Amino acid sequence: MENKIKGIHHVTAISGSAKRNVNFYTHTLGLHLVKKTVNFDDPKTYHLYYGDQTGSPGTILTFFPWEGITTGRRGARQVTEIGYSVPQGSFEFWLKRLEDHNIIHNKIAEKFGEQYLTFLDPDGLKFELTVAKNEDTRLPWETTEIKVENTIKGFHQITITTNKMEPTARILTEVLGFKLLAQSVNRYRFITDSVANANIVDLVEVAGEIAGQIAGGSVHHVAFRVSNEKTLMEYRDIIAGMGIHITDKIDRNYFYSLYFREPGGVLFEIATDNPGFAVDEPADELGTHLMLPPQYESRRSEIERALPQLY
Ligand code: ZN
Repeated sequence: MENKIKGIHHVTAISGSAKRNVNFYTHTLGLHLVKKTVNFDDPKTYHLYYGDQTGSPGTILTFFPWEGITTGRRGARQVTEIGYSVPQGSFEFWLKRLEDHNIIHNKIAEKFGEQYLTFLDPDGLKFELTVAKNEDTRLPWETTEIKVENTIKGFHQITITTNKMEPTARILTEVLGFKLLAQSVNRYRFITDSVANANIVDLVEVAGEIAGQIAGGSVHHVAFRVSNEKTLMEYRDIIAGMGIHITDKIDRNYFYSLYFREPGGVLFEIATDNPGFAVDEPADELGTHLMLPPQYESRRSEIERALPQLY
């Protein structure tokens, strides 16, 4: 196919308190809240999007925050780690910042020749900050406390834990255009060369691992990126042709999507670059307004009253 999957588009996870979520991702990690909208299936809960200045694909982490939700459990058939890329020389800053904010973290470690730092968000979602081998030239989103030399640049990799890596590996390589790059014990690293960043998926094979439970602090799905709807629908034909159930095209306001469950049990989405986050508010005001999809606009005041305070 001429237009390939361009790495990771976004990752969607579930959290508890929306207010704590906003504070952690915008203040502690210094990400940009690029969109404040509601769950299209449940408009009295938020859907929050964090990324770089414009919400570029490959930088977008989204949350459905449910106040008081029980905590999930990491396990097989899940995305179990979200990896961000940070600049060379920034670990000293990040170690101190994680300490200062009482964030649970590990010591700096190394895999596949890259140093990384593991931490948990307030709901227990697992992250890694990695200094990528190849310099990450993506533009920084700076805050008053986190400047260009330390900013999170966007995704580096995601990790899927699986009982048997082969069926998922086949989807990655035969459908999504990834190649096996390296193996270390039970971790298999896949990469696509169609983009320079946010292009790595690690499969960790643990035969006896019980299935994870998706609730607070866990990943709901990962979305892979295509340029446009034409390519999206070409992938739909390929995946449906393999006998895998895949949804029709769904309009997510900021992108168009398809969803299917890969054979390893993880919900995969394919999402387009178009139209992007500036479709319903000015590019320099992203994330500052509560944006509702057209079907809920007439219920705005009721929805605003029901949503929790964010600040
Ligand atoms: Zn999604």
